[in-house]
Amino acid sequence: MALSSEPLTLRELDQLSLERVHGIGPKTRPALEEFGIHSVLDLLETYPRRYVDRTNMSTLQDLQLGVDTMVMVKVVSCKSIRTKNNRVMVTAVVGDDTGKLSLTFFNQQWREKQLTPGFEVAVFGKAELYNGYRQMTNPIVDLIGNRTGRIVPIYPQSGKSSISSEGLAKWVADALGKCLPRTIGDPVPAKIIKARKLVGRDEAMRSIHLPETAEMHQAARRRLAFDEVLRVQLMLVGKKAQWERDSAGFAHETTGHLIDGFMKALPFPLTGAQTRTIAEIYKDLASPKPMHRLLQGDVGAGKTLVAVAMMLAAVQGGHQAALMAPTEVLADQHAIGIRALLDSLRLTDDGNLFGDRQLRIELLTNKVKGAERKAIIAGIADGSVDIAIGTHALIQDKISFKSLGAVVVDEQHRFGVEQRSRLRDKAQESEHGLVPDVLVMTATPIPRTAAMTVYGDLDVSILDELPPGRTPIVTTRVSDEGERSAMWADVRERLAIGQQAYVVCPLIEESEKLEVASAEETYEELQHGELSGFRIGLLHGRMSSVEKAEVMGAFRRGDVNVLVATTVIEVGVDVPNSTSMVILDAGRFGIAQLHQLRGRVGRGALESHCYLVTQDNEPSPRVEALVASTDGFVLAEEDLNLRGEGTIMGRRQKGQSDLTLASLQRDLDLIMWAREDAVSIIEADPMLKKLQPLRDELDLLFNEEEEEFLFKS
Ligand code: ADP
Ligand code: MG
Repeated sequence: MALSSEPLTLRELDQLSLERVHGIGPKTRPALEEFGIHSVLDLLETYPRRYVDRTNMSTLQDLQLGVDTMVMVKVVSCKSIRTKNNRVMVTAVVGDDTGKLSLTFFNQQWREKQLTPGFEVAVFGKAELYNGYRQMTNPIVDLIGNRTGRIVPIYPQSGKSSISSEGLAKWVADALGKCLPRTIGDPVPAKIIKARKLVGRDEAMRSIHLPETAEMHQAARRRLAFDEVLRVQLMLVGKKAQWERDSAGFAHETTGHLIDGFMKALPFPLTGAQTRTIAEIYKDLASPKPMHRLLQGDVGAGKTLVAVAMMLAAVQGGHQAALMAPTEVLADQHAIGIRALLDSLRLTDDGNLFGDRQLRIELLTNKVKGAERKAIIAGIADGSVDIAIGTHALIQDKISFKSLGAVVVDEQHRFGVEQRSRLRDKAQESEHGLVPDVLVMTATPIPRTAAMTVYGDLDVSILDELPPGRTPIVTTRVSDEGERSAMWADVRERLAIGQQAYVVCPLIEESEKLEVASAEETYEELQHGELSGFRIGLLHGRMSSVEKAEVMGAFRRGDVNVLVATTVIEVGVDVPNSTSMVILDAGRFGIAQLHQLRGRVGRGALESHCYLVTQDNEPSPRVEALVASTDGFVLAEEDLNLRGEGTIMGRRQKGQSDLTLASLQRDLDLIMWAREDAVSIIEADPMLKKLQPLRDELDLLFNEEEEEFLFKS
């Protein structure tokens, strides 16, 4: 390759053209590119999907009928015919020293080319007797070709382009061979590799492709997975460090008349978790380093109060606070709740004849228009609005705060990293240029490892205790007609004594229009059927903000008994008098969503019931999980088990694209190590000056948007 004899870096491998690999020419290259392989690095990072271990094979004489078995055999012959009903059928005879077997494939004409006589194949399937001969129909076949070695890697292959598993195997082996003289460099400090008992990168790269034993493969996978999570953690920890280095924040007073008055006026004592969390937040607020903290708390844990305690610290010192909610309904509700909590508080004000005044709390959503809107925006700009509550309307360009000291983002998984940083930028535009303290609240508990990856740039507080006096929600699965009518009878009984109910309509992800239509239909049906005689309101995403606010208002006042809604009520709606939650077609929802929806009831002392209606008796592990537990963290783990991490990370979350081998479920220890190691690396060397190769790797592997903050002074 090049003249240098230093070990190869990933950047060098990335710059090496594919055509340096024996067997890749102008013809194969476009196909590889279509497959997402553009450089030698991409090729080496195309890891085997699985491995065939010759020593684990059965021989044909041991083959049991009706049992899934893997055999290593040679193709004897292969032909394709057309059946009477014009289907293509490929049949092959395969054999080993102990016997023969026939394979039959329907509608897979390409098999004829794949199964070249003389080639070795690993076949997995169930054999049955057919016309007295043993036969497997549509088995899984891995072509070994003429490859040797005990463990044979099987690569992903694409049916469309002409990239086959054996082709990839040959090219990867050639590329690895060409790397041999210089070896692949290891940018991770040797101390860490030793302490974590990991193998070197060169060895790992070889063994992931061509392991000699299962243990070698395992060690290779762990090493490369560690590299993946370490890079993500370095990026997140580096981002946090840079953020703390570069920004000056407020040193808020966390004691004083406003906070004291608020605490005294509370109608209930704080929970232990609230006390602890507020102390964590106040500690950060008092320091001039800007806070950037995540507050995780299950639905109903009392996050609003914590947010208010934080905002008051800013207001008390003469600054402003803002709370941003994901929907108008939620923003409305926060405004109502927070006004009620702060109703009796007075703020000392020398400019006022009486020496004090009420707090000015304003709601800014798209619904607020005309003169009112102008007045609020002016109040935000001149500082007379103490607390601004709103939707993303708050981060529009026209809005500028006089002195924004604290920001709460009620995220509920709907704001992304970009919006959070826009809010920070917004604050920096204000007079003094100080960065406000930021609290991100989420009601979606996520497992610790996922949190470390998704929210790795934040400090975390956990509200893990519900206020006392809650009666646990009873959750029932409803599938047949009898159960259904019993459910409606129960709902009617509760409505009759003045309690309220939600009915959530089927989620139709493909089309909001269909979803709305189905909600309207449900509304009509209930009105004339099971719930006739009760006052029913309808809430869906296609209604105007004014209409939505009217319906919600009527439901809050109790003028409406039943709210038929699409998932717009998913987040945060708080009406403690509601005791029934009926979720139709619950099998369509995800665990987190069902948990959120269920959290709309059980908010007072009354016993609440959640009904999960499924269409039939088909197994629905998600619905079962909800029936089994009301603990958001338990459910989050279950969700991770059932669905895998992609769904938790979100498609556009940072770093996700970089996790190919690492798994949030399996590699808990690796993720913890990576976090620790990233923290100690960044503490000792914030700009990674002494670890150029590692820094270069981060530059290479994260795109510009992701690494915008990266170690750039
Ligand atoms: P979250 O936003 O975490 O889902 P909320 O802040 O909406 O929860 O609080 C849920 C309910 O619990 C509210 O009605 C609130 O008034 C009440 N609440 C909050 N803290 C306490 C407490 N310490 N003791 C009793 N009730 C509380
Ligand atoms: Mg809330």
